[in-house]
Amino acid sequence: MPRQQLQQQPPQQEPLKGEAHGGDANVVPDGDEAMEEEVDQEGYASSTPTSSLTWISWFCSLPGHEYFCEVTEDFIEDEFNLTGLNSMVPFWKEAMEMVLDVEPEDSLKIPDVSIVEASAELMYGLIHQRYILTRFGLNAMAEKYEAGQFGTCPRVYCLACHVVPCGRSDMPGLDTVKLYCPNCNDIFTPPSSKFQGVDGAFFGTTFAHLFFQTFPQFAPAPYYSPSGLSTSAVSRSPGNSTQPAFVNPNPHGGQKPAAGKVYTPKIYGFRVSERAKSGPRMRWLRLRPEIPGELDQVDWRGRWIGSDDDEYEEDDDEDGEHHMEDFDPVGHNR
Ligand SMILES: [Zn+2]
Repeated sequence: MPRQQLQQQPPQQEPLKGEAHGGDANVVPDGDEAMEEEVDQEGYASSTPTSSLTWISWFCSLPGHEYFCEVTEDFIEDEFNLTGLNSMVPFWKEAMEMVLDVEPEDSLKIPDVSIVEASAELMYGLIHQRYILTRFGLNAMAEKYEAGQFGTCPRVYCLACHVVPCGRSDMPGLDTVKLYCPNCNDIFTPPSSKFQGVDGAFFGTTFAHLFFQTFPQFAPAPYYSPSGLSTSAVSRSPGNSTQPAFVNPNPHGGQKPAAGKVYTPKIYGFRVSERAKSGPRMRWLRLRPEIPGELDQVDWRGRWIGSDDDEYEEDDDEDGEHHMEDFDPVGHNR
């Protein structure tokens, strides 16, 4: 007996090598040992879900899988939704049986159940990327968003704005999941290392932005007044001074107020000049116009209204520079 134990131990203590797991499209049967090791490390090698739990709810309840919503079986069973995916997932049929909790037709064919688990995870992730762009998926994610299950932006002046998961690629195996903040329009690494095993492609590049288009009430308004002026009180748009100022019944146009404060670097209380070599360049990228009226000064092509230039290509630069003064950070803060 002792000898047998000795023989069995070394493979289990093999160091963990591969970084990517599950989300790797190149999963091949040859890599089953490494895959099994990784799965062991994740703590779901003995993964056969208990009878009452579906594979999908079990998968979504694993540590690190908190960002996933549960894809409905109807969606997975509709082959139209899976177009093109079967070429990306090895052991497609077996993975499908696992995800849908169908008894395998011929379990002898499967060399190792952990391979199918990796395929099932990849398959579920890729289906998930598509599902969260549908109405049902967006609603499911909205519920999680409202409950704060994706966490908050780490940037101080975003005032704990809720974030959504996103990917930097729609192809699996390239990058892990990131978090997008609608307030500062930037992406962040999730705060816990448990998310470093989750492929960003399982959320994709479109979801975050489609989400805030679909639910504008979750997105911060694109304007912000540091002085706290009522945004509806002022109308500065040129040319219609004779008309009564439009008063929006909803002060933020259906959106929530922005957390618009921008950090100001200071040395002994003096602002670091924007022209200093280490100065705060491009601060205006995070600034917002103070009143909604300023947003209406841009037409649908992004040109400033009232500009004399007819040439679209040319007025891009000149106009941009001229009106950049509106975004001068010095005027906006103390
Ligand atoms: Zn933010």
